[in-house]
Amino acid sequence: MNTDRKALWAVRQSALPTVVRSCPDCPGMRHRASGKIRANANGKLLDVWLLLSCATCDRTSKVPVHERVHVSTLEPARLVAYENNDPSAVRELVMSASLAAKNRYRLDWTGTWELETRTPLYALDDPNPLSVQVRFELPAPVRVERLLQLGLALSRAEVRRLVADERIRLPFAPDAKAHQDFELTVHGPGFVDAAKHAKSLDAPGPEHPGLTRIGLRPHPARSSHTGPRRTRRSLM
Ligand SMILES: [Zn+2]
Repeated sequence: MNTDRKALWAVRQSALPTVVRSCPDCPGMRHRASGKIRANANGKLLDVWLLLSCATCDRTSKVPVHERVHVSTLEPARLVAYENNDPSAVRELVMSASLAAKNRYRLDWTGTWELETRTPLYALDDPNPLSVQVRFELPAPVRVERLLQLGLALSRAEVRRLVADERIRLPFAPDAKAHQDFELTVHGPGFVDAAKHAKSLDAPGPEHPGLTRIGLRPHPARSSHTGPRRTRRSLM
């Protein structure tokens, strides 16, 4: 069996998650990272806070990151990043599940990611299996069937049918949420038929009317597929 066909799907960050916790000044619950980190040294002891802004009233609040730690426990480069409000340090802190748990707030990941496939849309009627590596640039919990809908340009019902028919092999249930790298396989039409009915192996083309309809479906041009190509060209 030809298993050389590989694709890479990347879950790219498009925004930072929202911090959900109550605001002392208003009924608002949503906070965004202000882009600032405050580090205060008192002798050899250090306090570090991540600063948030209430999305409703703009009040600034502080999330303790380090409290009364000895300066030597922090890498000098990290301290410099904190003192300079380094965007990657802000990003890391606001996305941190452990910081959220420690400070008892929830992260809302809605609207924080987009799927970049980099490859032409996969033709579902291709008889060769396609192995897809899914890489996460951020730990956003993403429903697996949503990824498949975007990556294969199918409806949720079509995705569920392909999973039920074992045309799509997943390490999770389709309604599970993934937040880190995984791999899936898309098998061509006839895969299930061939496995179940060895006699039909030499029959040309797909036999399942539902799958034929999906396989021959014209693929709409999607901006998420032309975007990365434009980006790459502009970098050349
Ligand atoms: Zn507020």
